Amino acid sequence: MKCRLCGKKPVIYMPHHRLALCREHFDSWFLKHLERTVKEFRMFSKDDGILVAVSGGKDSLALWDALLRLGYRADGFYLDLGIGDYSKRSREAVERFAGERGAKLIIRSLSEELGGIPLLVERTGRESCSVCGSVKRYFFNKVAKDHRYAVVVTGHNLDDEASSLLGNLLSWNLKYLGRKHPVLPQEGGFVRKAKPLCRFTEKETALYCLLRGIDYVEEECPFSEGATSIFYKEILNRIEERSPGTKMRFYLEYVRKVLPLFGQDSKESLGRCRVCGEPSPSEVCTFCSLRERVLNFIGTGRSSTG
Ligand SMILES: [Zn+2]
Ligand SMILES: [Zn+2]
Repeated sequence: MKCRLCGKKPVIYMPHHRLALCREHFDSWFLKHLERTVKEFRMFSKDDGILVAVSGGKDSLALWDALLRLGYRADGFYLDLGIGDYSKRSREAVERFAGERGAKLIIRSLSEELGGIPLLVERTGRESCSVCGSVKRYFFNKVAKDHRYAVVVTGHNLDDEASSLLGNLLSWNLKYLGRKHPVLPQEGGFVRKAKPLCRFTEKETALYCLLRGIDYVEEECPFSEGATSIFYKEILNRIEERSPGTKMRFYLEYVRKVLPLFGQDSKESLGRCRVCGEPSPSEVCTFCSLRERVLNFIGTGRSSTG
């Protein structure tokens, strides 16, 4: 097998694109394919202030790096979730990345403001991934609005999007299925959100990082172990091996053909949280009710110790 463009030894063969590329041509393909995706879905332009939600993992750092190289005004946002060594290492990776590039990085620490994820899980009895999801949603939106960014982008890749689509289809979760588009407009107190890596597999983002010398945290969040999403990814990979291109088709044809069938009524009109003013389906948003429960708990703890 040879690089399609120059005939040199390839570093990757992508069966879903029927494309083998050498090191140099994979790098330029990655940038071009990213820019095409951004334009095709009208995610943002070179004038927009972009906030990249970075976790320290391969996807979000590959995304931030590629956006900077393409000349986008992309700043980073890291939310320290207070998950022990995992958060410590992730934060170091993100700080090192930003430092090396002189890129702007905003950091907020959940432990300092409320309590780390382990504490929140313990105090509320809620499932960790759901607590983590609520907390991230709240901070991404709040920080983007406070700092006047036009759009928040996340590193969700094709494997993430296809597996979550499969999961939501299996339970016909219409609320989530109606919001599976790679770009969600600014509305009802939410800033615009986009997933520019939605057409890249995790193998491709990992290779991009490797070739660019990006030092990322390989370990997954310790709470995500055994998560159903990982099982769905394995299943999709088995289907993909048998019939290359299925994963990409499953996701993109859903976005192109099925999503437009959801009418306006699938969009819930949200009220505002009475505590913080952020959009919320209930009187008090999930984040504020988490905060109330944690603060009340700490309050009783303090009074009992005098
Ligand atoms: Zn080549
Ligand atoms: Zn609130």
